[in-house]
Amino acid sequence: MVTKTKGMGELFKEVIDKGLCTLCGACIGDCPYTVFYRGKIRMLDFCTREEGHCYEYCPRTSTDLDAISNNIFGVPFSGAEIGTVKDVFMARSKDAKVRSGAQYGGTVTSLLLLAMESGLVDAAITTKTGEDRLPAASVAHSAAEVMAGAGSSYMAYPVLEALNRTPRDSKDSLGIVVTPCQAIALAKMRLGPPMQRANLDNVRFSIGLFCTWALAYDRFYEFLKNNVDLPKVKKFDIPPPPANRFDVYIGKEVKSFPLDDVRNYRMPTCAYCLDMTAEFTDISVGSVEGVDGWNTVIVRTQRGAELIAEAKKKGKLEIKDLPALNLVHLKEAALNKKARAVQEIVKKTGHKNDLMYLGIADSLKNKLLGHRVSVQGGH
Ligand SMILES: Cc1cc2nc3c(=O)[nH]c(=O)nc-3n(C[C@H](O)[C@H](O)[C@H](O)COP(=O)(O)OP(=O)(O)OC[C@H]3O[C@@H](n4cnc5c(N)ncnc54)[C@H](O)[C@@H]3O)c2cc1C
Repeated sequence: MVTKTKGMGELFKEVIDKGLCTLCGACIGDCPYTVFYRGKIRMLDFCTREEGHCYEYCPRTSTDLDAISNNIFGVPFSGAEIGTVKDVFMARSKDAKVRSGAQYGGTVTSLLLLAMESGLVDAAITTKTGEDRLPAASVAHSAAEVMAGAGSSYMAYPVLEALNRTPRDSKDSLGIVVTPCQAIALAKMRLGPPMQRANLDNVRFSIGLFCTWALAYDRFYEFLKNNVDLPKVKKFDIPPPPANRFDVYIGKEVKSFPLDDVRNYRMPTCAYCLDMTAEFTDISVGSVEGVDGWNTVIVRTQRGAELIAEAKKKGKLEIKDLPALNLVHLKEAALNKKARAVQEIVKKTGHKNDLMYLGIADSLKNKLLGHRVSVQGGH
């Protein structure tokens, strides 16, 4: 697949103005022309450059999954349901304090803390929420700052902005937590690393979060503001199927909303995303259907395997086999997301030879177009 890089004008015309932006943040942070404001990437002034990293790294412009997969895993994109897997199991933090503030088992937070403790990284890029419960990226330099980022905000937030803001000559080694679209943007950045901004060699590992969809920052905030006392909220949760609820923990109480109501606030662009398990990261982490307080963990790369080995050696994680049926369901949900995405893309473009941004082999495209999406799966 030949990728033609264009500039900021085309990024707005083809992606942002069409409502296809995922809010990954790859186009902001070091650019004087674009900024994140009230839930959207906005243009401050027009950039006349014909080619820009903003266009190149966007996960909704021409994306060659074979090239990305070759670069990370040394093999073309297979289209396997949950991507390249070295190991898969369930885990949770052995530290009760970490677990109590975490979304599920606190595996992500534990791995970040371990990486800092052992000197693998100096800082971690996380997403934390403030009093208004709006997400914001944070470059956490201490254990306390990493802990403050625990828990999930289901609103999309342009996390890669924080990476782009790191000075080119910074010596800080970094770990980063990303959703699947952010992982794809990061992988595109690794394919053609920027010369003038953040040094990607500083990123020692990425942890990906499973994600079925994310919620629109501005519209969902309005919904929350009108329905809950935001400063009192301790946690948001979308329990795995068949719960079909969005739970808001307020003190010891839980206020639940039907997930169908909350789905109205989804980012429209998530319908075109193929990736449920953050396939282009070192380690991916999600919930475990039917098992509260644990995470499903997928180890994908050597770097990921080394971090997990260290966690085992230092006794940071409790690890168990993932029940076979959970893996079956996970693969089914992930395959459904792939098939739904390709089918939605074709519905949008009106032609099966036009997959918008997506570069995949014809054989995989045909398989996904022919797949009957059977269960809702994921969120
Ligand atoms: C938008 C979204 C959708 C998700 N959808 C699913 C799903 O369909 N199925 C599933 O199994 N799991 C999903 N998850 C993942 C799940 O909510 C947990 O984050 C994951 O299981 C890790 O749990 P933990 O206990 O290890 O996390 P913790 O130890 O609590 O750490 C959570 C980490 O997530 C980061 N984070 C929080 N919000 C965001 C955000 N908006 N963007 C980027 N990073 C963030 C925090 O910085 C923190 O480092 C989703 C998460 C998000 C953010």
